[in-house]
Amino acid sequence: MSDIRKQEHVGNSRRVEQLVMGKVTSDGAGVLLTRVLSQSLQRRLDPFLMLDAFGSDDPDDYIAGFPDHPHRGFETVTYMIAGRMRHRDSAGHEGLLESGGVQWMTAGRGVIHSEIPQQKEGVMEGFQLWLNLPARDKMATPWYQDFAQEDLPRFETEDGVAVTVIAGESHGVGGAVNRKTTAPLYLDVHMRAGTQFAQTLAAGHNAFVYVYRGSVQIGKDTVAAQHMAILRNDPQADGVTLTAATDARALLIAGQPLNEPIAQYGPFVMNNEQEIYQAIQDFREGSFA
Ligand code: FE
Repeated sequence: MSDIRKQEHVGNSRRVEQLVMGKVTSDGAGVLLTRVLSQSLQRRLDPFLMLDAFGSDDPDDYIAGFPDHPHRGFETVTYMIAGRMRHRDSAGHEGLLESGGVQWMTAGRGVIHSEIPQQKEGVMEGFQLWLNLPARDKMATPWYQDFAQEDLPRFETEDGVAVTVIAGESHGVGGAVNRKTTAPLYLDVHMRAGTQFAQTLAAGHNAFVYVYRGSVQIGKDTVAAQHMAILRNDPQADGVTLTAATDARALLIAGQPLNEPIAQYGPFVMNNEQEIYQAIQDFREGSFA
């Protein structure tokens, strides 16, 4: 039974600034993935640092997983559409991430973790988003939480648009994670052809839509599957309106920019080079969590 909510009113929708098609790459021990939000867009989409989409029914594309590797200075949010993956980290956290579930990990001052598929066949599909931490929280104590599909808040609009609220708030429904800092909004929106979904967005927050099924219309622009639409920060806009051109599924992600310097070296994201050298040194000396 889903909660039915009256559609939010958006009088003036943001328009599309740029359409981005992800780049196919490989990471971990050889996992095939599409990097949708890459390093060149970190400044534009501050506080988000990365979005990877993975999806394959060929075990060769995912079976090797992500063996032990470190992170420092930001958060990783993994959303599993299909499949099973086991997480273990040096802070003593362990969890099984299953279809429809979310894992939210704050690396803070440092964790070493592994993410290993727990299936030998079938489809593995999902997303990993990297959310930056402000300078004052980069060395915070690592934190981790799993949310099973049934733990994630969801609602439907009167039009039958089904929304999962991973973070932030939509239509009065609070997400699994709520943060004052950067106020991240992370929605998974499932729409039938012809329906509309309107979401208010705070002025000045950076926002993007990633379509992973079907296609969605935003103003005059059509956003096809496997494309990200960066939304303009139109000062007069009060949100965004999506219209499903076909049955469609999309992630709508927004947040308040940190406006701090970003220094990234692989899995370490700090504010300057000196902090990066420190991270590498701490990791080599084994002083991560
Ligand atoms: Fe990782």
